[in-house]
Amino acid sequence: MKEYFKRQQCDKCGKEHDSALTECPNCGAPSGRDPLTDPFKNMTPLGYKREILFFAIGLFGIQLIAAIVQIIALTIAKEGYIIAGFTGASLSAAMQEFTNSGLYYTIVEVFAYLTCFLIIIALLDSDFWRLMRRFKDKRVLLGLAIGVGNILFAILYIRLISLGGFGSSNDNQDALNKIIKEAPLLSVIIFGLVGPFCEEVAYRVGLFGFLKRINTWFAYGVSALIFGLIHMQLIGVSSNGIYFNFSVQNLITLPIYLVGGISLSLAYDKFGFGAALLAHMTNNLYNVIATIIANNINA
Ligand SMILES: [Zn+2]
Repeated sequence: MKEYFKRQQCDKCGKEHDSALTECPNCGAPSGRDPLTDPFKNMTPLGYKREILFFAIGLFGIQLIAAIVQIIALTIAKEGYIIAGFTGASLSAAMQEFTNSGLYYTIVEVFAYLTCFLIIIALLDSDFWRLMRRFKDKRVLLGLAIGVGNILFAILYIRLISLGGFGSSNDNQDALNKIIKEAPLLSVIIFGLVGPFCEEVAYRVGLFGFLKRINTWFAYGVSALIFGLIHMQLIGVSSNGIYFNFSVQNLITLPIYLVGGISLSLAYDKFGFGAALLAHMTNNLYNVIATIIANNINA
């Protein structure tokens, strides 16, 4: 599949374009591949360099911005507490309480996701509209079915592991719950809409699109594994420095994300970006709203 790393000259207008594209972005002339067997006919290839770029933004960008926001928030909080008269042991206790608070988690995540979202939109430029045009396709609705399928699988899987005495929670979900409690409406927007958009551009259009140029099966396997592992928070940063969490309770939820990763790649590969984004949003909106309802019942 080396051919998909080259550029191809359009027969009609003569301009060069990504060889994975089904039609020339300049004049719309078909690339010449059989439309029935064309492996990229439902996808939105951005060129392999841009695909790597968007994957890198999704993988490192959010963490990097979150780290910067953490440093700023901690500095401001510390100065505030010192001005308020906290010193020594009372200061470290106040800081400890702040870093465990829902407010702190909310500030960090909301800033990180919104900044990443704006960076992705700016870099996508006119490709943003190429992706949005996929919503005209009726097969977008199949994304809704895939999202519901993922929700049902997660419910069944959590039932199954509860028989073995395991809970449904991992570190990722615990952090999420704190934010949902602190700011329910903002959580719906960030985790239900903004997060899925950033992740679909990074992991399906970016990572899966890049890997499919090498081999389709390889693309499904590797992208699902990476998508699963980033949701495990195996590595974290606390006030004591970097820590690792390879506990069974943290890892046992991995299959939910592996199935999620494979089915979202399938949605993008077979039905296009609109279907993948709708599937992801359906799944996340269900999780956020179910958590809000559960919090209100427990309150
Ligand atoms: Zn052309």
